[in-house]
Amino acid sequence: MAERKATNKYYPPDWTPAKGSINKFRGSHPLRDRARKLHEGILIIRFEMPFNIWCNGCNNHIGQSVRYNAQKSKTGMYYTTPIYKFRMKCHLCDNHFEFQTDPKNLDYAILNGARRQELRWDAKDNEQIVAEDKEVIKKLATDSMFKLEHEVEDKQKAKDVEPAIEQLESLQKRWKDDYSFNRAIRKTFRTKKYELKATKFADRSLLKRSSLPLSLKLIPESKEDSKLAKLMKLESTKCKI
Ligand SMILES: [Zn+2]
Repeated sequence: MAERKATNKYYPPDWTPAKGSINKFRGSHPLRDRARKLHEGILIIRFEMPFNIWCNGCNNHIGQSVRYNAQKSKTGMYYTTPIYKFRMKCHLCDNHFEFQTDPKNLDYAILNGARRQELRWDAKDNEQIVAEDKEVIKKLATDSMFKLEHEVEDKQKAKDVEPAIEQLESLQKRWKDDYSFNRAIRKTFRTKKYELKATKFADRSLLKRSSLPLSLKLIPESKEDSKLAKLMKLESTKCKI
């Protein structure tokens, strides 16, 4: 954006401190180009797409975090919180989107020009632990009957999740002594490694002795095979006699 570049501190020779600030002297706003529509109550800001959308003009998917130069203006109030509207042009077509802050739901609402890709879910359905919202906290502080009922509910909830917590605890205990656990694993691994090395060496020497290619893969020896081989040897000697 151009206004970011206009940060030089040049003071023309005809300027004197009596003429006020350099912005006043030049007749420009400190926010430069971003304030060009300020008389209409619009400030130009950088807006980051808060969720995935589809543009209604070109039907292209626009991902979350894509940034636009947007015109920000105040449209109303939600109690003491101002509601802002953001208007920006699609970077792929001539369509404009309009977003509005939604302080009630701590979210953004699309006014027009786009469709939201629904990726919202209820954390409670997902078996996640959800913090109490402000209204419940307020009621807990003021309504003693509600507090009592809430406590009963909480206790029941704690009872329900107890087996799962116990299971987690026992699992954690099992891996608690990670030094000896690590040592045991490394020992097993080391033994296995030596075994593999020894087998590889034996295989290689066997292949060399038999003048077979070294790339040939041998299957592990089995007792039955060696027994059978011995028997065959015996028979062949018998035949010769
Ligand atoms: Zn578009």
